[in-house]
Amino acid sequence: MSSAGVWGEEKGLFPQAGVLLTWYDRQRRKLPWRSPPGERADPYRVWLSEIMLQQTTVKAVGPYYARFLARWPSIESLAAAPLEEVLKTWAGLGYYARARNLHACARAIVERHGGQFPASEAALRALPGVGGYTAAAIAAIAFDLPAVPVDGNVERVVARLFTVASPLPAAKPELRRLAHALMPRQRTGDFAQALMDLGATLCTPKRPACALCPWQDACAARRAGDAENYPRRAPKREGELRRGAAFVALRADGFVLLRSRPARGLLGGMTEVPTSEWHTDFDEETGMGEAPRLSSSCRERERNTRWRRLPGRVRHVFTHFPLELCVYTAELPVGTPAPAGMRWAAVVALADEALPSLMRKVLAHALAAGRGLINTGPAQDRRRPARQRA
Ligand code: SF4
Repeated sequence: MSSAGVWGEEKGLFPQAGVLLTWYDRQRRKLPWRSPPGERADPYRVWLSEIMLQQTTVKAVGPYYARFLARWPSIESLAAAPLEEVLKTWAGLGYYARARNLHACARAIVERHGGQFPASEAALRALPGVGGYTAAAIAAIAFDLPAVPVDGNVERVVARLFTVASPLPAAKPELRRLAHALMPRQRTGDFAQALMDLGATLCTPKRPACALCPWQDACAARRAGDAENYPRRAPKREGELRRGAAFVALRADGFVLLRSRPARGLLGGMTEVPTSEWHTDFDEETGMGEAPRLSSSCRERERNTRWRRLPGRVRHVFTHFPLELCVYTAELPVGTPAPAGMRWAAVVALADEALPSLMRKVLAHALAAGRGLINTGPAQDRRRPARQRA
């Protein structure tokens, strides 16, 4: 389509918001964070769900949302919680920067806004961890302000409605402009949620259910019979494979050696077993030099060199690169001190640790090979199997 105008407007085929809202009134999804029809949504619940739903499926978010709400039913209670507890409750949901920002945002709302979410898109956007999409979602859903949250689902719907020819990500500004052109003057919160539902239930990436779609008459891609070809995408460049080693040190009394990652960066602040650096040109022999030094005496240090390389590798995919870790285990006597910056944690209590999925995979791999499987908590890849950005 031409970027100068809106496709179909001149032909009377412009998708009408009212048609979508009528469909939404009948078909809206029942979601735990949604208010009943006609009721204004609670900004705290909208915000909490929107942060959790970033890059994560509704199904995966459900139990976490319930857990957070039961434990911290208000923004004040979340702001008063220790960060460590928030991270632990978040463990397994992935993209951990969100948990740190969630906590920082709760504090900012209490300190700067007296515990009330600001009712403006710009003020919401200024809060920690609240990007353009989330600010628009809260503004529309909780305050019925004229805002359209545009995520991948909405981009797909709009690209198909108007057969937008330019590929993502370059097409984003055009798709946002078109999405705003669809917005009604009233019921903007319902309209935002209707667009989300349409993208999630009918206008799916593969085999969209166009025959059930309220906008089928106005949809250019449906009329052309090539909906699946939209949105157009620029060819992807895969990140290069990085490799490294993970060291699972087990003490004879059922403790495992852990440490915390630096607060900033990938998996920031989360718990891990010691690992080597991760490189594209990782060399296993050199990597062994990065194993933790676990003993104080020379004799014990000799014993400490008996790291056992387990067969196989643990594979994980982050947003910008895939990772393979080989896993080493060592058994240490009771009383072995933890090296500086590390600590021993009971294997039976690992579910309480803020372990990201990668580390749960590593521990499951090591413990299955050693002393039998243990319960490593709720995090075995409940998110969608696509890419993980921590
Ligand atoms: Fe999507 Fe099909 Fe509806 Fe077009 S008609 S918006 S392609 S579901």
